[in-house]
Amino acid sequence: ALFRMLPSLSRVLSGISIINMYKKTLDMVHIEFKAEIESQKLGAKINFNKSIELKNISFQYLETDKQSLSNINIKIEKGDKIAIFGESGSGKSTMMDVLIGLHLASNGKFIIDGVEINSDNIVRWRKNISFVPQKVVLFESTVKENIVFGKEYDEKLFREVLEDVYMYDIVMSKGGIEAKVGDEISGFSGGQLQRLAFARALYQERSVLFLDEATSSLDEEVENKIMYKILSKYKEKTIIAIVHKEAIADKFGKIIRLKDGKNC
Ligand code: ADP
Ligand code: MG
Repeated sequence: ALFRMLPSLSRVLSGISIINMYKKTLDMVHIEFKAEIESQKLGAKINFNKSIELKNISFQYLETDKQSLSNINIKIEKGDKIAIFGESGSGKSTMMDVLIGLHLASNGKFIIDGVEINSDNIVRWRKNISFVPQKVVLFESTVKENIVFGKEYDEKLFREVLEDVYMYDIVMSKGGIEAKVGDEISGFSGGQLQRLAFARALYQERSVLFLDEATSSLDEEVENKIMYKILSKYKEKTIIAIVHKEAIADKFGKIIRLKDGKNC
């Protein structure tokens, strides 16, 4: 009888070792779920009614021997439409990361409506903004969840932001709002995924919109159409966009030019 039980015993043992192996992962996830969300802890959003300023901002990445930004001075008024233009490696993304509070500058001041931004209040500034990064991040989930992104579902707004990026008909033709984003079957192209990330940023209805080459993988015609629509429709929003084409930059009210980490 013992001999017959041996295979089961070995299965039990291997089961126990699998449980032990996954327990660590489960503990890590559990800790994450228990953690307080930083933004809930740190109070209301910082008022933004006038201006965003960078004064003598410098920034250097760890383990590099060169400043990626040196003595940047810019002032952006509320409602401005700003294009950031410059060669690759000139510091555009780094400057945007300072503006959205991903990097704290090593020198200089970052000021919103006269209030200096530091590590204590940066989270409260972020509540004013939405950001479309250069590399799109979408979840293995539905179009709807990717765009609503924690907010309540509002059908009218949802449709509107998809139409802003000319994606409503495409989404409908690929299985509707419940279509899976990463799915081979729905088969969204890279440029279409980028437009979904753009729609998500609009859905959040923040007063400041940051775009880091948010339309870089679109063909020129679609890119033009979308930028034109966003700039003419969202007059009250402050829009700060890193753009690659001079023709697109010209549609903006102001252009900030960067060269080797300096504004010129
Ligand atoms: P852009 O967006 O204009 O192409 P970046 O802001 O990405 O330029 O980069 C500016 C400079 O900082 C470049 O010299 C780049 O090599 C450097 N850099 C960017 N990110 C990092 C990083 N994470 N670590 C070290 N150096 C970086
Ligand atoms: Mg960049």
